[in-house]
Amino acid sequence: MSQERIAIVTGAARGIGAATAIQMAKDGHLVAALDLKAQDCAGTVDAITASGGRALAVGADVSDEGSVALAVDTVVSRLGEPTILVNNAGITRDNLLFKMTSDDWDAVLGVHLRGAFLMSRSVQGFMRSAGFGRIVNLSSTSALGNRGQANYSAAKAGMQGITKTLAIELGKFGVTVNAIAPGFIQTDMTAATAQRIGVSFEDFITDAAAQIPVARVGQPEDVANLMSFLVSENAGFVSGQVIYVAGGPTD
Ligand code: NAP
Repeated sequence: MSQERIAIVTGAARGIGAATAIQMAKDGHLVAALDLKAQDCAGTVDAITASGGRALAVGADVSDEGSVALAVDTVVSRLGEPTILVNNAGITRDNLLFKMTSDDWDAVLGVHLRGAFLMSRSVQGFMRSAGFGRIVNLSSTSALGNRGQANYSAAKAGMQGITKTLAIELGKFGVTVNAIAPGFIQTDMTAATAQRIGVSFEDFITDAAAQIPVARVGQPEDVANLMSFLVSENAGFVSGQVIYVAGGPTD
């Protein structure tokens, strides 16, 4: 088991964030499960406490500066100074360019990019003082381009840029910064996409699996497993990388 640290996982109420929070606790860390509403993290916190871990549900909007400051203060006073941060909170507002509103654009860029910026800026001081830190940002295969996702693909490509820059800036303080870029992961987010394009989630999964070399779609745990390594002490020489978790090669 690795040294106990304080980890913040954003968007931890469900999907990849919930699986990541649960994995972090299994790895021996104290986990702040952060989502828009603290009560939505109850399932994640219960799963962690049921297996002997410790977790705190925190309600915050990662795109809001005041909300982020308050959330980080709460984590520090209730759990301690965070040295692991997973910027996972995300939304989609898909539409073809000619139908995409400015609000759709701003909302997506706000949660993913501004959220990752605000959260990272808020916790970097604790990481620098500790001489240790791990930041993992969620990118996506959509960063390579995806029809109907001008906002989301721009945000996810942006996540790769901020990852590389923070890796350069923070490396000398013992802080690594990496991005995980998942392909199709079976969560509420992909279920919503199926609904938007008018196919059943089951058919959507079958069609997606047929295009994936390992012949299945991903599960949140597939991402959480890599997360576990990237935040570990052993991953200290891996930084500024974008690792695709997509069941096969990407372009
Ligand atoms: P999900 O099931 O939709 O979960 C995302 C969570 O983020 C939700 O609980 C959501 O809360 C929360 N959230 C949204 N806006 C927030 C905000 N402003 N502040 C705090 N929390 C907020 O999504 P997922 O599929 O697990 O995806 C997690 C991450 O992986 C996202 O960044 C996503 O873009 C990325 N990703 C997913 C896939 C995939 O195939 N699923 C592929 C590539 C990348 P609400 O429910 O209240 O909105």
